[in-house]
Parts: sequence; structure tokens; C-alpha cells
Amino acid sequence: DVRHGTILSLEDINVSFDGFKALTDLTLYIGVGELRCIIGPNGAGKTTLMDVITGKTRPNSGTAFFGETLDLTGMSEVQIAQAGIGRKFQKPTVFEALSVFENLELAQNTDKSVWASLRARLSGEQRDRIDEILATIRLSDSRRRPAGLLSHGQKQFLEIGMLLVQEPQLLLLDEPVAGMTDAETEFTAELFKSLARKHSLMVVEHDMGFVGSIADHVTVLHQGQVLAEGSLDKVQADERVIEVYLGR
Ligand code: ADP
Repeated sequence: DVRHGTILSLEDINVSFDGFKALTDLTLYIGVGELRCIIGPNGAGKTTLMDVITGKTRPNSGTAFFGETLDLTGMSEVQIAQAGIGRKFQKPTVFEALSVFENLELAQNTDKSVWASLRARLSGEQRDRIDEILATIRLSDSRRRPAGLLSHGQKQFLEIGMLLVQEPQLLLLDEPVAGMTDAETEFTAELFKSLARKHSLMVVEHDMGFVGSIADHVTVLHQGQVLAEGSLDKVQADERVIEVYLGR
């Protein structure tokens, strides 16, 4: 069974927008605990791929399974998020006027309104989990600071923390190191490698240095199809990949 040991199985996915094929017969498997990077030139279909996984875009055909048995086809974005797929967009969307801790508190209580959530008393267990995440994202000392005062990189880390409080099994991250300092990029690489023990990660990224520092396995998309797959060294040596990146 090809789905054995996978966190995500996409098979023969097709997506067209007014006749334009954004994804064509795309098949992709991600293993449990894997850290997969998706690369490819602009327009390759990377965003559409993440939109399909998260239920934002419905494929015209094909199947999508989360874990070995959960059919994502027909599930709403909210249902898919609740099933354990978390997505981080490129631009951080934290609540700037609230403290770092409050942002994590809100993310833990997405079923409540903002005010109900901030008034609700956290259980000891919830508080411990937030403390643990603060340490993981290296923001323990900034817990009382308004999120608006954090650096760009720290806001990205906070947003990753906001995903982690929801205990997702699969994390999708869109260009996580764009705009980061070298030190922040290095910390992100360490963070992702440590997260990949407990979660599975799919990372869309253009920074090849970063990709090389984290990925076990790289998938190259081009014109809505998988052009190459394997280690970064292997795909970078592939003639077709070179052609796509360097032009003919
Ligand atoms: P990438 O993220 O790799 O840059 P996208 O998934 O954003 O690629 O886009 C793939 C192709 O599909 C592009 O040619 C883009 O113009 C097209 N596309 C994406 N979304 C839409 C849409 N909602 N309507 C029409 N065309 C779209």
C-alpha cells in the first residue's frame, strides 16, 4: 500500500482555473516525520498545492489523504485545520497589540471569541504547554511584550508557536525565512529539524542555502507537475531542473 507510513498522499491532482492548468496529474507522498521542501520557479503551482491540501482550493480531480485513511476531499478549510494540518503564510499575522503570551493563548482557544478566550482561565496543563512552546521558539523572555514590538523574525517564530499550540501533525510553511537575518535563518533551520521529530513539515522555499540545511527530500515543481524528486544534490544535478532554473 503506497499510503503506508505517509502523513499526506496526493494522487493525480488536477486543478484548472478557467481552462488554465495550475496542477496536472500531481502525485506526491510525504512520510510521517518527514521534512519536505517544495521548490520551483514562480508560477510552478506551489501555492495552489498548499491551497489544495488546506481545502482552500478544490481540485477538479484526484485524491488527497491525510494519514493513511482520512480523505480530505470535500472537507472544509476549518475541518482540515481541526484534523491537524496547520498552515503558515509568508506574512506574519499576529495580534500586534496583545502580548506574546496572549497571542499563544488566543491560538489555543480558536473556538472562543477573543474576549472570552482572554478571560478564560487556562488550565495548568495549557499554561505549561505555552511555556514549553515559548522556550521552543526562544521567546520566553518576551512573553509580556506586545507582539507589535517584536522583530520580523520573532513575529514569524511567534506565528509558528501559534500553530504549535494547536498540535498539528502536519505543518505547511510558505517561505518561512524570507526577510530573516542570517542568525534567524539558522535558528529556523534548527527549529524545523527539531519539530520534524514530532510533526511532519512541508516547506515552500526559494532560499537554496536554507533548503540544503534542512531537507531530507526535495520536490521540484514546474508547470504544475513534479519535475524531479530526491536529495537537493540529486535534483540540482538534474538536467531538466538546471534548464528550468537557468533558462535554455
Ligand atoms: P507558485 O506559488 O509556484 O508561484 P501558483 O500556485 O501561485 O504558483 O500559480 C500557478 C499558476 O496558476 C500560475 O500561472 C498562476 O497564475 C495560476 N493561478 C493561481 N491561482 C489562480 C487563480 N485563482 N485564478 C487563475 N489562475 C491562477
